[in-house]
Amino acid sequence: MKQLLKMKIAVLGGGRREEALLQYMVEMGARVVALSKPSFPIKGIQVVESLAALLEGATILLAPASGIDENGRIREPFGEDIIFDHDFFAMIEEGSLLFMGYAGDGLKERLKEEPITLIEYLLHKEVATLNAIPTAEGAIKLALEGMSTTIQGSKTLVLGLGRVGLALAWRLKALNASLLGANRSKEGLFKGVEMGLQVIPLKEIDRYLGEVSLLFNTIPSLVLDRHRLHLLTKEALLLDLASAPGGIDFEAAKDLHLKASLYPGIPGLFFPEKAASILKDTLPSIIEEEVMRAQEVR
Ligand code: NAP
Repeated sequence: MKQLLKMKIAVLGGGRREEALLQYMVEMGARVVALSKPSFPIKGIQVVESLAALLEGATILLAPASGIDENGRIREPFGEDIIFDHDFFAMIEEGSLLFMGYAGDGLKERLKEEPITLIEYLLHKEVATLNAIPTAEGAIKLALEGMSTTIQGSKTLVLGLGRVGLALAWRLKALNASLLGANRSKEGLFKGVEMGLQVIPLKEIDRYLGEVSLLFNTIPSLVLDRHRLHLLTKEALLLDLASAPGGIDFEAAKDLHLKASLYPGIPGLFFPEKAASILKDTLPSIIEEEVMRAQEVR
């Protein structure tokens, strides 16, 4: 926290998930400034009246995990709206670090024109590894809500054996699902084998799809295209956990009357307390590292 304590941190919004993090940073002695009072109590946070006052001299900009919406608006404002428009960017200090959970392609493209560094902290290894736990539990909850039978004995396919896929797969195995995990790289397949899972290369899934009753996708790339969706039965329940737009052709799924949905933001949605404690445990050191990296580059 050494570097952090020297800097002004401008809070660009947040919700319950950010509460524990902000409280922790204030307690550590960081100068945390917000535009309006949060609806939850954070002792020691400094409140300013205008966006200009918020951004002046702030080289660390902290946006919420949920990012901005399609209109450039922060999704979880404390009170006053902050919009990522021309006026906002004109007020930002050169060389600022913008921390945000995920940023969409539109914002990433926009930021290429600005002297700002974007850090998508939900993609950081530490955060992503811990987030896999509530994501896996939430996915199982969602599956159970959509099923008329038990996970035990259900023919289940997990696409992608990365952090979320593996966290999910072994939990499903513990529930005695009839489970198959599929992955592109050998690394993921070997990790699955090490966990005692039955695994197949991703390119071989076609011959198993017709038997599957429960499918979880964690691959952030179109993997279930129209051709593959044709191979599934109408009874199959498809849960796409990958970041938007997911790995399922949802238009084709609708045409084929398949039960398929995309489920973003599971940790914050179902387990806000856990999501908050993950941010509190990981983000201060990520910010510290990024500040030091930026100073080395300069
Ligand atoms: P990860 O550890 O990086 O795993 C990514 C997985 O996707 C790996 O199995 C990887 O396979 C596979 N993959 C990536 N691109 C691929 C491609 N073009 N073709 C085939 N396979 C590909 O990521 P993670 O932490 O598990 O997260 C997985 C996804 O879930 C991400 O999109 C993440 O943003 C999202 N997520 C969603 C939630 C939620 O609430 N819904 C929560 C956390 C994360 P290889 O081994 O071959 O690379």
